[in-house]
Amino acid sequence: MNKEESKKDDVRIGFFICHCGVNISSTVNVADVRDHVSKLPNVVVSQDYKFMCSDPGQDLIKNAIKTNKLNRVVVAACSPLMHELTFRNACEKAGLNKFLFQMANIREHCSWVHDNKDEATLKAKSHASAAVSRVALQSPLEVDRVKINKDTLIIGAGIAGIQAALEIADSGNNVFLVEKEPSIGGKMALFDKTFPTLDCSACILTPKMVSAGHRENIKLFSWAEVVSVSGFLGNFKVKIKKKARYVDTEKCTGCGQCWSHCPASRFPTRRQIILENDILINEKK
Ligand code: SF4
Ligand code: SF4
Repeated sequence: MNKEESKKDDVRIGFFICHCGVNISSTVNVADVRDHVSKLPNVVVSQDYKFMCSDPGQDLIKNAIKTNKLNRVVVAACSPLMHELTFRNACEKAGLNKFLFQMANIREHCSWVHDNKDEATLKAKSHASAAVSRVALQSPLEVDRVKINKDTLIIGAGIAGIQAALEIADSGNNVFLVEKEPSIGGKMALFDKTFPTLDCSACILTPKMVSAGHRENIKLFSWAEVVSVSGFLGNFKVKIKKKARYVDTEKCTGCGQCWSHCPASRFPTRRQIILENDILINEKK
């Protein structure tokens, strides 16, 4: 017997399926799924209940863990977004590592999206069986605390990027705001009015642009691009390429006098390209 098999021999799974009133049970044959799962390997307990997230429902799980020495739990109910934490906490209170729990979503992914009861039941069986197979392979985990870098990188300094940067900066965190164009502002800087109120676009945008430029905890990288991102959550390393300025940015006031002599000005600007495209589209109409 190899290591994996001997490990699976010790696995004792409790399966609990929820009716959610009639939310699940009107489309899924709950008793059928319960009986199907009860015959799967390592399943020691298979029970159904009207409202599994209620206190009596959670008590059912806790008592079953203690009485049957369960070391894995699966709940087939709603989305994990709704109640994964509820059931993990219930497992923990009964002395089971909360990561030895798995949830099968048979409401949003099954009863709510099907009319045919036979097919919905078949799908629920498949979801439940998959969760049972998966939980058997899970290992207990411990929650650890690690230091993370709270600085935020925002790629793209259009109105959304600027607003996000300002709000993060207001919360006291540092922001690196990267924009590939020479100026921040994005598409909104090209518009005259905004839909649907027809407010002046520049009147909304420019104070935010100025504000983003002056915040101490927002570091702007205009005319720059992200080259690489490595690392992981809370510990990313990002390489940013700043394109050549050809002027002393400390001294340049942006007056634009040099632009008329600049050979690069022979190329159309982004605004010119957009305007030309608009004219071509209108001419075709
Ligand atoms: S656990 Fe989810 S599916 Fe069950 S009763 Fe509560 S909300 Fe409904
Ligand atoms: S002429 Fe004006 S825009 Fe050009 S580099 Fe000098 S200050 Fe900047």
